[in-house]
This record gives sequence, C-alpha cells and structure tokens, in this order.
Amino acid sequence: MKILIFLISLLLNAHSFGGEKEFKVLLRKRNSYVTYLAFKKLPNLLSNDSFDGKHFKIVLGKTNTPIPFFHENEDLILKAATVYYHLNDARNFWIQKMGSEMAQSLQKITVRLEIKNQFDELGHFAHDNRNPQYNNALSIPEGETPEWVPQSRKDKWFKEIWYRPMKIIPTKELGSLGPNPLTLSLMALQNPLISFLKNEVNNRIAREFFYRNYLKRPLLEDLFRYAGTYALFKLIHYSSKRGDQLFKEKYYYLDTAMVPEISYHEYAHIILSENLQMTHSTPVNEGLADYFAAAQTNLTKIYASVPKRSNSATKNTREKKKYTHWDELNRNASSDFTLSVLWDVRESLGEKMGNSVIYEARKYLSTDRSNISNELLNAILRACEVKCEKPQRDKLKLFETFSWKGF
Ligand SMILES: [Zn+2]
Repeated sequence: MKILIFLISLLLNAHSFGGEKEFKVLLRKRNSYVTYLAFKKLPNLLSNDSFDGKHFKIVLGKTNTPIPFFHENEDLILKAATVYYHLNDARNFWIQKMGSEMAQSLQKITVRLEIKNQFDELGHFAHDNRNPQYNNALSIPEGETPEWVPQSRKDKWFKEIWYRPMKIIPTKELGSLGPNPLTLSLMALQNPLISFLKNEVNNRIAREFFYRNYLKRPLLEDLFRYAGTYALFKLIHYSSKRGDQLFKEKYYYLDTAMVPEISYHEYAHIILSENLQMTHSTPVNEGLADYFAAAQTNLTKIYASVPKRSNSATKNTREKKKYTHWDELNRNASSDFTLSVLWDVRESLGEKMGNSVIYEARKYLSTDRSNISNELLNAILRACEVKCEKPQRDKLKLFETFSWKGF
C-alpha cells in the first residue's frame, strides 16, 4: 500500500518526458504576480532519484541526505522542486546578467527545508527547543564547531540557505507592527501643517491690526477655521490609528519556499556575502538583496502574495517615502526604503548601468559598517567612478536622485 502511495505521489509531482524528468513547480506568470503550477525540467541534477544537483542539494531539516523524488510528503516534493528550480534561476541571473564570478565558481550549497532550529555560529544548529522559527528564510555563513567540542557534536558546513516551515499565526500575536502606512504619512504631515497653521494665525492677527478694512471675515471666524483644519487633521489621524486593525488580516503566514523572490533574495545574500557578511540583518544588506531579487523579476513589487502560502506584505521598488533617520535602525531592515533608493539609482542610470554600479558598490560596504545615508550612498558614488561611462555627469544624476529621496 505504501509503495502504491509513493508511486501515485511521484506521478502527481513528476513525470518523464523523452527520458527527462519534469517536476511540478510554482511559477509566476510573465510580467504578473499571478502564480501557477507547471511541470518543468530541473537543470543540473546529478541524482536520478533525489534533489541533489551540481549547485544545490535540497534536504529536510537538519539531515544531510537529499530529499528523494518519491518522498511520501507530496507537498515537500513540490517545495523541493520549486526552490531547486528558482535557485538555479537565480544562479543563471547572476552569471548571465551580473557577470558574477562568484556564482560561477561557488561550491554546492545545501538548502534546508522545514528547518525550525535557530542558527548557531558555533554549533550550526541551536538546540531544538530553543525558540523554534517559522515563516522566514535565511542564508547562513560557512563555519565549523570549535576544537573543544566533543567528537559527537563536531560539524563543519559551507554557506547554506534555510527555509522555515509555514505557521498560521493570529495577527494580534505578532504584536505591534508599527504604524500603518496611512498613519505614518499623516504623522509626516503633522509638523509642516502645524507650522503652516501657526504662520496663518500669526499673519491673520497681524492683518487684524494693520489691514483691518481689507479683511473678508472677522478675526474670530478665521481663527475657528484654522482651528477646524487642525481638529479635522487630528480626527483623521486619530481614526487612522484606530483603523490599524483594518489594514491587517486576521492571520499571518509565509511559506518562504513557495515565494520565488525569497529564493532570489537569499541567493543574492550568498553572492554579496564576500563583503556583506550574513551575520545579521541591516537595512543596507537586506535592501541590496531585495534590489537584486527585484532586478531578477523586473516587477515593481516583490514578494507578492501566493494563495494559501503567503499573505505577507509586498515590497515596492517605487516606494515614495523620503529618508528619515529611523530608516537606519536594524529593526527596520525589513522595510522597502533602501530598495526604493537603489531602484531610483537604477532608474537614473538605466537598468544595465544601475545593476553594475549597485553590484560594484558592495566592495565598499560591510555588514557591520554600513548605514544608508553615509556609507551606502558613498559606496554608490565610488562605484559610479569605476563603472559609469561619464562619472562626472552620472554622479550629478545620482546627487539629484539622492535629494529626491530626502538626503
Ligand atoms: Zn535577507
């Protein structure tokens, strides 16, 4: 019976086509956010019966054996095929479009699915009970257990990509996700509006004394008008804060293995890791990985929702927000501000030159020493000196772009 189930699941997820095996994978339609399942040939496979290829080996949890094509969990086969397919796609993007030598020469990467353990720099995997992780993905740096560690716990590993299991979490348990976008823009408006109103009130009072005969309305009426504008503003602001709940869905879930751009993002971290070490998340290293994920898809938004797999927020390459010092905080590493700055650089230099300059900029950055307003912008200008056709002219374009973003 079990064998029969294996065979049926194999038939549902893979079939042979002229001797070449094809697997069901999740894709997005061209120039669209719509997802669909299709049978695709998996490139560079080395094994006839498991997800072990020339460049990627897909394993389950902490194990090191590749997931077999006939695994009893059908959904796991779909995830393994999907990440395998998209990681090979990401590798092709880096070799063909970015001319990355690192992507060309990189040794095989182990890719872990459904892994809940936290990463431990000294032990590879933190203890199973230590704060299990869901709904995210990460790339980890190569490492080795220290010498004193007993033989049974000795381990050595190369760069890896980890995809956590999906877990449906009631949104209210996520805690405050910060102000919703509407509240934020109203807050940004508050100070300019108050100073405008103050000016208006001062002017009006001055006119009361000097040009009384030319005034249309009595002073008190005008003052009520100004107060009314402010009260209205306060009311909208207050209700938008209360309205936060309306902007959230009741549940949150993110099956990272089934969102193609997350694979592109994680692979970008691996390629950038020579300079931007994968030790922790900062707005700069996350923004760069987002940028190359977006550059690979050529779509305005990345991480668009996938039915039943992810309702996580998208990131927008054309986010119009201007710079504030809050954007530098590591806890804002998941925002799309840095992505939008880099996308504007690409818009002003053109796709090819933009990609080339932003990739070159990694050489002047490190994860520990990189903020947006100083080091990142400086790295882009230095990269432009090396890569731009006419650095003097192009740097002027970049200065203009930076000032548009509020720098
Ligand atoms: Zn990341």
